[in-house]
Amino acid sequence: MHYIVEESPVLRKSGGPFELSESQQSVASVYPFKVSRYYADLIKSPGDAIWRQCIPDVEELWDDFQIADPLAETILSPVPGLIHRYPDRVVLLVSNRCPVYCRFCMRKRHVGTTGEVPLDPESLDRAVSYIRATPAIRDVILSGGDPLMLDDASLHTVLSRLRDIRHVRIIRIGTRIPVTMPERVTPELCRMLSLFHPLYVNTHFNHPDEITDKSSQACELLANAGIPLGNQSVLLRGVNDDSTVMRNLMTGLLELRVKPYYIHQMDLVKGTAHFRIPVSQGLEIIRALRGHISGMAVPHYVIDLPEGKGKVALLPEPIEMEGDILYLRTYQGERIAYREITIPQV
Ligand SMILES: *Cc1c(COP(=O)(O)O)cnc(C)c1O
Ligand code: SF4
Repeated sequence: MHYIVEESPVLRKSGGPFELSESQQSVASVYPFKVSRYYADLIKSPGDAIWRQCIPDVEELWDDFQIADPLAETILSPVPGLIHRYPDRVVLLVSNRCPVYCRFCMRKRHVGTTGEVPLDPESLDRAVSYIRATPAIRDVILSGGDPLMLDDASLHTVLSRLRDIRHVRIIRIGTRIPVTMPERVTPELCRMLSLFHPLYVNTHFNHPDEITDKSSQACELLANAGIPLGNQSVLLRGVNDDSTVMRNLMTGLLELRVKPYYIHQMDLVKGTAHFRIPVSQGLEIIRALRGHISGMAVPHYVIDLPEGKGKVALLPEPIEMEGDILYLRTYQGERIAYREITIPQV
């Protein structure tokens, strides 16, 4: 496997070089720091939404009550690098590198760590053998790290080996590259990916400031290659915990032909507590979306339950039922009694 050339973790601030403070460096010695030049240039001022996502914060070290792998991904790995939680789909971790190490990453325990590049050839062989021997698997999700950190030839190898397995119907790639290193999305990459349809890409925008000419162009290239695009955002304090920000993000994505798929409640991952907002606030944000903007732009709000119990979607209103009457709340807040009419079965 070959990685594409990694950008050096350099930030420029008002023309001059930016250096991490001593305390930020102590954080970076535990959780690696890296930011692509492109992404660093999106920072407008210290503490803004882009800054918070990529600059180490001492609060990462204060969090000592959460665990590194609450979703039990390691336990659910039948072979290294493969997570098999749902019967019909698996996650294949093909890289532990990314252009930016997001401070809130759910795989904080392994991204950017040295030495541990999950997909050595032997692990790939074992993962492919496992998938081949498990006909229930229809859907393989490439994740990491960022799968697009692999160079085109390595990615082609992985995709070919998966496409070779008849029961693998769908391939998905989860990648933040369109957001963090859009120049990686080249016409050649898109042409190569289009050989493996049906192939889906889910990307990861968290803030409207990440929608730029370059990231838009990356999405356009992928969409023009016939790749359906989805987006998974994470609710983050001080980044997107605001209904106007989320509305602008979701409608902006739809204009890029990116369908908002999930908004994730932050996983209970060690080192990320300072980003978490209460579920009640997340529900308020969803309420501010549903009905107010195109339904196409409204994602599912999900909690990924600890211990690998899976994702559960949350709705802003509980369903109230009395006999055949459902009490439903409209997007404008009105409570409506809706009588179900069903024809008795004969
Ligand atoms: C999220 C996830 C999936 C895919 O779930 P979908 O709801 O189908 O997108 C599969 N396996 C694991 C381990 C996951 O975390
Ligand atoms: S790009 Fe994804 S995998 Fe990489 S650090 Fe960010 S959230 Fe984690």
